[in-house]
Amino acid sequence: MPVNDAIHAIHENQVLSRWAALLPRPPAQVGAVHQTDAELVDLGDGRLLALTVDALIEEVAAGLFQDPFTAGRTAVIASVSDLSAVGADPIGLLLCVTLPGDDAAVQEAVARGVREACEAAGTFVLGGDTNDGPQLEISVTAAGMVPADGYHSRMGMAAGDRVYASGPLGAGAALAASALLHTPAELYSETDYRPMPRLAEGRALRGVASATMDTSDGLLATIDQLARLNGVAVDVEADPASLLEPGAARLAGALGLPPVAFLAAHHGEFELVFSIRPDRVEALEAAAAAIGWTPLFLGTAREGAGVRVGGRELDLVRIRNLLHDVGGDPQAYVAGLLGIVGG
Ligand SMILES: [Mg+2]
Repeated sequence: MPVNDAIHAIHENQVLSRWAALLPRPPAQVGAVHQTDAELVDLGDGRLLALTVDALIEEVAAGLFQDPFTAGRTAVIASVSDLSAVGADPIGLLLCVTLPGDDAAVQEAVARGVREACEAAGTFVLGGDTNDGPQLEISVTAAGMVPADGYHSRMGMAAGDRVYASGPLGAGAALAASALLHTPAELYSETDYRPMPRLAEGRALRGVASATMDTSDGLLATIDQLARLNGVAVDVEADPASLLEPGAARLAGALGLPPVAFLAAHHGEFELVFSIRPDRVEALEAAAAAIGWTPLFLGTAREGAGVRVGGRELDLVRIRNLLHDVGGDPQAYVAGLLGIVGG
């Protein structure tokens, strides 16, 4: 299926498409660039190999992770999240770390974070690479396996589909807001930011969801990407305040910021967003009940284009390009975002 050109209004999509045009892509790869959260290679025996890599560099540089423990833990969750978004079970991880000054205390903290996330995801570190450099950088490659007839892609959301999230949202934005706005630690701190792997949920959605993507760039960017890729509009009908996890709700209230800002911010939290055909809602309820999970209803896909929240059209092109347009300046980003969503 060719990639819908509507995605190229977004700067990051332009850069990814340019890379894809410059690089060789294997003929056995499932789906085009932009269409899956992890790369899928058909092994020819009824299984797909799922591969994904994610690096924590800008987040460390921006001061979002002060504790190397959080950076190590989050780096693993980020890559495992892309496996869950294609419905894969993890095989293992490769870890590439740049340690400032080969600092053993930083190494130990990163490793504790990596270990905690591995235990939560039921996976292991296969190997990796270590470097010495000026700033902590962590990159995690995750490998997984998914049945060829049960994988998820971002393609397949249709008008009429119901749209859900795997759990409450806004934790990524809350961490970014607490770091960038220097809020008191008792309101929200790094220890409140503990995203969990959603592998069981991704597995439960096999054969049930029509499209799936993770919220690593925030909820509304994820919904906007799915809408653009599939040529539909999405109405978020749930009250934004009802979608926030407790820490994000607490921070929004204390700062007097609109809850929608915590869904629009560029720093996400690794939940899954997925669509369900109306005749598959009962299948979702059964699959979710079987693992003791309650999906969070967000809204409905319809004919057209764009993302509406509470009946109001949001300019997701401006929101998603904002960090690039302000030259990566965090304070200008926060001010600009609040200007767009109304704060
Ligand atoms: Mg992703």
